[in-house]
Amino acid sequence: MQTPGQQYLMKRFDLEKSQRKTSSHPCLMAVLRMAGLRPTRQRIALAGLLFSGGHRHTSAEQLHAEAEKAGVKVSLATIYNALHQFRDAGLLREISVDATRTYFDTDTSNHHHFFVEGEERVIDIDSKSIDVVGLPSPPGGMEIAHVDIVVRVRRNRKRPGKTTG
Ligand SMILES: [Zn+2]
Repeated sequence: MQTPGQQYLMKRFDLEKSQRKTSSHPCLMAVLRMAGLRPTRQRIALAGLLFSGGHRHTSAEQLHAEAEKAGVKVSLATIYNALHQFRDAGLLREISVDATRTYFDTDTSNHHHFFVEGEERVIDIDSKSIDVVGLPSPPGGMEIAHVDIVVRVRRNRKRPGKTTG
């Protein structure tokens, strides 16, 4: 028997399949297997939530809320485990905003982020608008794996005042 979450996923993928005549979208089970992860029901369901909506950033808490909404019964601890497994398998990239806030990015390429304070949101920085220079040379026998820049932003504090003139 299928859980409501699986039914939801199946519907979603059938819809995707019918929308894309040339099926270049690899099946989630294949993706998980290729990443060296056993395609368990929970992993498939979470991968479906993560990867079927295009490029996105999410936290474990946000994914947990989405899973509940989709009828996927899964604990927050399981979500944390799955996210870390997906990260270790190279399917996700981890973005640490601070000690208590971690986001996961479905785009694993090297890029940087804005963090919107007060909205708990991560946005990509256009690669053309940032130039990282003056990096130190790494200690002997080491190489720079990647550079993660998080630029914190907030809404303008100035109120949208009366238009002058
Ligand atoms: Zn990103």
